[in-house]
Amino acid sequence: MTKYIFVVGGVLSGVGKGTSVAAIAKILKEYGFNVTAIKIDPYINYDAGTLRPTEHGEVWVTENGGETDQDLGIYERFLGENIPKSNNITTGQIYKSLIEKERAGFFLGKTVQFIPHVIEEIKSRIVEVSNSFEIAVIEIGGTVGDYENIPFLLAAKALERELGGKNVIYVLVSYLPVPLNIKEPKTKPTQHSIRMLLEHGIFPDFVLCRSHEALDEVRKKKIEQFLNIPKEKIISAPDVLNIYSIPLNFEKEGLGKKILEELQLEPKQQPNWSLWKNLVENMENAKEEVNVAIVGKYLDIGGYQLQDSYVSVRESILHASAHLKVKPNIFWIDSKNLEKRESVSQLSHYHGIIIPGGFGIAGTKGKINAIEYARKNKIPFLGLCFGLQLAVVEFARNVCGLEADSTEIDPNTKHPVIDLLPYQKELLEKNQYGATMRLGSYPAKIKENTIVFELYDFFGKLKKEGNFFYVTERHRHRYEVNPLYHNILKENGLVFSGIHVRADGTELIEFIELPREEHPFFVATQAHPEFKSTFENPAPLFYGFLKACIDYKNSKPRI
Ligand code: GLN
Repeated sequence: MTKYIFVVGGVLSGVGKGTSVAAIAKILKEYGFNVTAIKIDPYINYDAGTLRPTEHGEVWVTENGGETDQDLGIYERFLGENIPKSNNITTGQIYKSLIEKERAGFFLGKTVQFIPHVIEEIKSRIVEVSNSFEIAVIEIGGTVGDYENIPFLLAAKALERELGGKNVIYVLVSYLPVPLNIKEPKTKPTQHSIRMLLEHGIFPDFVLCRSHEALDEVRKKKIEQFLNIPKEKIISAPDVLNIYSIPLNFEKEGLGKKILEELQLEPKQQPNWSLWKNLVENMENAKEEVNVAIVGKYLDIGGYQLQDSYVSVRESILHASAHLKVKPNIFWIDSKNLEKRESVSQLSHYHGIIIPGGFGIAGTKGKINAIEYARKNKIPFLGLCFGLQLAVVEFARNVCGLEADSTEIDPNTKHPVIDLLPYQKELLEKNQYGATMRLGSYPAKIKENTIVFELYDFFGKLKKEGNFFYVTERHRHRYEVNPLYHNILKENGLVFSGIHVRADGTELIEFIELPREEHPFFVATQAHPEFKSTFENPAPLFYGFLKACIDYKNSKPRI
């Protein structure tokens, strides 16, 4: 039978609930259990696909094509397991399915109500998603006290009533502010959160105390009295520079064994943290530094730098850096500032340039300038999705001599080197925007003797079928390299290192590169390899890119 751990937030959001869930799941996996993690988002949107990244952070794409909350990404990066789209439950999904059932006559004669129907629907979804796992860790989005997460707390309680207390436990991730004049962590807001949880009959089994500094024994004792929770169940969760050290910190507090005990489970094996520890140490002790520029558009919103839009790209760089023992200094460059040709030379400070995914016309001129600069100056370049499309536009213009563009940028361009395929045109004509991009995992046939082949081979990620080698990566895009221009691009020296062949025979370009004799590392992909990078198993292209950054730095004359 599955055991359930509900993780709720107290006091304020944004204190690392997702990371705590991921760390707990990873720890329990290390003890030999089959674990999954679920995110509940109390918003009405059906999924995260139509949310603006600047408002809600990055949209995470699952292997099976879901556009979900970015917390699923944190779970995957820690757990090293695929988390399917059904693991992101939203209020919108609950009501949609209930209304569909009602319309289909499922409840004939009955009044469909908040209690019991909504609560039942939530509960049965959680159970269904967790079915094949021994332990499910479920994060309830938002903070205790939010109106919109009440139904989910009621569902958790209903599940507890059904299964018994030892099969359903609760973790409160709370925040202890330290007022400047008192210099001591205050527990009052956490006490209030617990009181609000109690209104639903829930008392937390563990409290993870997020605070600036670690709690000492004296503080824990004090919190024990104020919160009325045994001190062994109060876990210190201080701010850390490196989130990957969190499971190790939790284990220093014995969290894994304490949770297992609470669930009446015996460890199945001794955890083996050696690789994980090595990687964390590599990150902390790396001497060599490289400067990586991420040229994007979403970066400054009302004075804030919203790096959350590219969180997976940043994490993928960090994963690769842990394996290469190098410290990457990441610089977020707003492409709007690269629109004037003379401004582009600022890129000479960097040892590598990444153009991540993106949508729409804004900032594209600066990105194309950056790509041209990277290509001509032989600076390592990695293009991701939109980054590939703009690299093709740049190549078509400056190497093939075409007045080229993507029709996403200029619908009337003379040479639409990037265009919608007919099926996408039809969808957009009918205004069908939700979940209709090319989404999720697709295989690409990889060309031998290319950088892409070598990197995936190095990580053992090439699959052989017949005489061909394949890799799979996740996608989220509408536009493609226009098949009418494949030949001219190839004839001018662009290497298509990976292609996907559609059922109708259309070839889609998945990976491009420049020959190594011309450029040390100029690689782009239509996919999003950042969605498959995990701490223990980095994405090959990010690894190759970062390695090229180190080589580039070391080959550059020092001034
Ligand atoms: N805007 C481009 C497309 O829709 C690229 C999308 C992306 O970078 N994820 O094809």
